[in-house]
Amino acid sequence: MTGQHRIVILGAGYAGLAAARRLVRTARDAQITVVDAKAKFIERVRLHQRAAGQAIPEWDLREMLENKNIRFVRAVATDIDTARKRVVLAAAPALDYDTVVYALGSIADTESVPGVAEHAYSVATPADQMVVPAGSVAIVGAGPTGIELAAELAESFPDLRVRLLGAQEPGAWLSPRAQEHLQRTLARLGVEIHVGAKVIEVTPHGVRLADGSLVEAEATVWATGFRVPELAAHAGLAVDHTGRVLTDATLRSVSHPDIYAAGDAAVIAGPGDRELRMACATALPTGKYVADAVTARMRGNEPGQLRFRYVFQCLSLGRRDGLIQFVHADDAPNRMVLTGRKAAWVKEQVVRGAARAAHP
Ligand SMILES: Cc1cc2nc3c(=O)[nH]c(=O)nc-3n(C[C@H](O)[C@H](O)[C@H](O)COP(=O)(O)OP(=O)(O)OC[C@H]3O[C@@H](n4cnc5c(N)ncnc54)[C@H](O)[C@@H]3O)c2cc1C
Repeated sequence: MTGQHRIVILGAGYAGLAAARRLVRTARDAQITVVDAKAKFIERVRLHQRAAGQAIPEWDLREMLENKNIRFVRAVATDIDTARKRVVLAAAPALDYDTVVYALGSIADTESVPGVAEHAYSVATPADQMVVPAGSVAIVGAGPTGIELAAELAESFPDLRVRLLGAQEPGAWLSPRAQEHLQRTLARLGVEIHVGAKVIEVTPHGVRLADGSLVEAEATVWATGFRVPELAAHAGLAVDHTGRVLTDATLRSVSHPDIYAAGDAAVIAGPGDRELRMACATALPTGKYVADAVTARMRGNEPGQLRFRYVFQCLSLGRRDGLIQFVHADDAPNRMVLTGRKAAWVKEQVVRGAARAAHP
């Protein structure tokens, strides 16, 4: 025990690193330790680019953090012993804490349908590697990840047959103008859209739909959404039905006041009382906010509540096209849309800015 306040940040993704960046500036007297299973920070928001064969930037976490006097422990966190206030690690000594920032993010949801874990690729985390086949690929899930991946693969591999399957039209949540651009762009790239597709099984040869038909593909990518690690539930923290940490208005666990949560792994109330969606766009500000809340309480002050509003959603549609949908504070689309090369440029700047914001 050094007398310093010991803050252990679990997860070196956008939320955990944003928290570390802020804490090292505001809580200089604290001992800050970041734990991650990975040695490198690889931009998750570019994983569709990597899947299409592009080299994407990566940074050595130890170098990046220890240069700023933040301790880095590369290990898998397996438990939080809340009674003894220790984070339990696999193959490494446990870490005592005064405060934990829980930012373990999310992973591919491979459990929901038979055959996904065995036969489908995913692009949800840096550990997920996909091999682009000759012939055809079926991408299941027409949300942002599925759309970005479909466009990227179709642009990079013009001879590949790219089939995008979803319950609804891709981008059904966007404004009519944005949807129109999206449909035009996917058509230009030759992406085949299958709407109303309920996939009930993934096989080595494609996906089986609820109506009994088979959509054939040499490779399937599962992009239906993310799920969160089980550690919070395992450690006895109050969680929702998906395992995300339930937080109060200061992102503190409702069951364990020494634990805060940010990013994809937390349930966070946003504008209009809608939960914040899983996004880099929410992970960075919530990570930063958590740091301020922790620092305030260390100083004996009560933090103000998280103030967050959405500004836009951005989608890359290959390297030469994109879509910026401006939104109301609660994420509902408004009429302003930017498309084409300008949008691709803006999206690239946003992604670069996100990486900078994750650098302590
Ligand atoms: C292809 C793709 C494109 C995307 N594009 C966008 C976009 O354009 N805009 C946007 O806003 N969002 C986008 N997202 C979503 C965004 O990447 C995530 O919402 C964001 O990364 C969440 O940040 P996080 O810090 O909460 O979690 P993560 O970035 O997932 O970081 C969690 C960290 O915790 C570590 N970890 C997990 N479990 C353990 C453990 N037990 N022990 C030790 N370490 C552990 C992981 O290794 C990881 O480094 C995209 C996602 C994908 C996959």
